[in-house]
Amino acid sequence: MIDVLVIGGGNAALCAALMAREAGASVLLLEAAPREWRGGNSMHTRNLRCMHDAPQDVLVDAYPEEEFWQDLLKVTGGATDEKLARLVIRASSTCRPWMRRHGVRFQPSLSGALHTARTNAFFMGGGKALVNAYYRSAEALGVRIRYDARVERLELRDGRFVAAFVGDERIEARSCVLAAGGFESNREWLREAWGRNPAGEWPADNFLIRGTRFNTGTLLRFMMDAGADMTGDPTQAHMVAIDARAPLYDGGICTRIDCVSLGVVVNRDAQRFYDEGEDFWPKRYAIWGRLVAQQSGQVAYSIIDAKAVGRFMPPVFPGTKAGSLPELARALDLDEMRFMQTMNAYNAACRPGRFNHTVLDDCTTAGLAPQKTHWARPIDTPPFFGYALRPGVTFTYLGLKVDETAAVRFGSEPSPNLFVAGEMMAGNVLGKGYTAGVGMSIGTAFGRIAGSQAAQAALEERRHATA
Ligand SMILES: Cc1cc2nc3c(=O)[nH]c(=O)nc-3n(C[C@H](O)[C@H](O)[C@H](O)COP(=O)(O)OP(=O)(O)OC[C@H]3O[C@@H](n4cnc5c(N)ncnc54)[C@H](O)[C@@H]3O)c2cc1C
Repeated sequence: MIDVLVIGGGNAALCAALMAREAGASVLLLEAAPREWRGGNSMHTRNLRCMHDAPQDVLVDAYPEEEFWQDLLKVTGGATDEKLARLVIRASSTCRPWMRRHGVRFQPSLSGALHTARTNAFFMGGGKALVNAYYRSAEALGVRIRYDARVERLELRDGRFVAAFVGDERIEARSCVLAAGGFESNREWLREAWGRNPAGEWPADNFLIRGTRFNTGTLLRFMMDAGADMTGDPTQAHMVAIDARAPLYDGGICTRIDCVSLGVVVNRDAQRFYDEGEDFWPKRYAIWGRLVAQQSGQVAYSIIDAKAVGRFMPPVFPGTKAGSLPELARALDLDEMRFMQTMNAYNAACRPGRFNHTVLDDCTTAGLAPQKTHWARPIDTPPFFGYALRPGVTFTYLGLKVDETAAVRFGSEPSPNLFVAGEMMAGNVLGKGYTAGVGMSIGTAFGRIAGSQAAQAALEERRHATA
């Protein structure tokens, strides 16, 4: 019998598999995707957030535990478990030598990458290179890997893992790690969670999924139905405003539209609906998916003029271009009169100031609702550009409740041999909000813990069986 069964094929699963194997356990990893699509959302990532008290290779200055914790506290509004959050933060300062041993390489932050040179270590070659390195290392260490192996259900007995089912095939193991992602690719579940809005629309029908199509939440739902302790709210997720032309799945990083704070955003009725300059874009980009989801038709339009060009990382597709604002309204299929009223009101409300996109500057609007509090300059210099935006779901936060051992819990009792890592439990640390790079910090910390714990549980059981 296998010692440790790992279900999932992204960062959390691979960290668990590697740790379990290093501890001496035999390991089988089941990945739902075919080999060419392996790696889940992790293959789309670029970096992980790391605590450090002094400059460390690719990281400049210091990013102490307390600052990381305060950042997390702020974005989650307190919807976080401090003990688990601090465990993740501390683990983020020591995991990189281990990652390097398994072939991951780091590089300094790129310019335009959300000002993260101090806080985030970037993977050379991105998340794709990271998962490829982990797979190579796992294979070299003797971890067995099966692709196209979607687990549909588990066999549990009194809170213990017994077996997993891939179709009709029953796979037994002494212990198990669940690392099968959130439910962001399950469109029915998103629909159920978001429901209908007062206009009778199903907002989730217009969501795009930034990552893998394989995170359908099958095991999350199974565990809920099996009575596992849960945490989080099914409507909470990391959601970004992305290019409306992005594909339904796997558009990845290059579909993000990063010019919101440099212009204005209007909805389908050509009305502004939120302060585009509320704070630095890295601190605000993850709220705009939700804001767009709340608009009719779940669509919005980011409008800029020539002054903004060159000040943001351009998306992969060019925007709609026009020589005048009325022409832009027509090209975007917006009501021209209402659009011009909005734009004229905005332009007239901009107060003179000293524009500086690197600080919270004094360029603001007066007498306008909603106000634009920073970087407000008249949109008056052709050519003008418009980008249609849709909500892009990165990952959902509903998850299994854990303690510092990563054990799945039933009625507050930890399972002796079933553990969980990554998006399936990230909601313990991230009840809402987001700070860039923390998804990989959580997955790496808990993947490693879950793998060690699963190996320990399996090896103990093996010893008992042979004693
Ligand atoms: C475009 C994009 C960019 C991102 N950038 C960053 C970043 O730079 N930094 C950061 O920290 N986070 C980033 N994230 C978030 C990050 O991807 C996640 O937090 C992290 O990868 C989660 O790891 P995971 O292993 O839990 O899930 P995943 O990597 O999604 O892995 C889940 C795995 O489970 C498999 N699976 C699902 N269901 C089953 C089943 N029933 N049976 C078997 N296997 C199954 C899937 O095929 C997949 O391999 C980004 C996400 C996206 C989409």
